[in-house]
Amino acid sequence: MTNSHLLDDERQRPSEKPVMESLASLDVRILMRNGLLHCGSEADLRFRTAAGEPRHHVVVMVAEDALIVLFDDTLEGRRHRQKILLVAVKCHYGGNKSLLLCSSCGHRRVALYLLGMRFRCRICNNSRYWSQCHREPDRKREKAHQIRERLGGSRSLMAPFPDKPKGMHWSTYLDAVDECEQAESIWTRHLTGRFRKRLRV
Ligand SMILES: [Zn+2]
Repeated sequence: MTNSHLLDDERQRPSEKPVMESLASLDVRILMRNGLLHCGSEADLRFRTAAGEPRHHVVVMVAEDALIVLFDDTLEGRRHRQKILLVAVKCHYGGNKSLLLCSSCGHRRVALYLLGMRFRCRICNNSRYWSQCHREPDRKREKAHQIRERLGGSRSLMAPFPDKPKGMHWSTYLDAVDECEQAESIWTRHLTGRFRKRLRV
């Protein structure tokens, strides 16, 4: 599997806890969905910064009971290797699922995140979801960006609203339009308030 991910560095300020969405990640659900979670598979993951610059190249090789992960940091130009143990866990509804063992805390996790030279879990990386460290207007702005993108348009709120994609039901499209309008109006009210404060109107 070759995949490309955008790491949104703009969402992270150096003084704050790392934001998970800004980190390269390994997620067993994604590997499973792509039919890669069996011995002998190999995945090639590429992560980019928000500006589109290459950031990490991660090669995942699936062994019997572990992932062998090779990754390089394009800023440092160094290559690293990490073995991440796979643990089989019984599901409530029957069967087994695989989880990743965080080598720092020993807990079983669905996903690990690359910070520094190691993939570790969210708790060990002391990271948070983007939505946990932003206030409602920022979350609404991001929601509007995502809806526009999902409909095949530009993320920009200044761009014309995207047309209904082929194959999408009108009711789904109109729900998306409503949701986006509400989100944009909360963001716009917030912006107006900020400008008024600044101008002391
Ligand atoms: Zn951990």
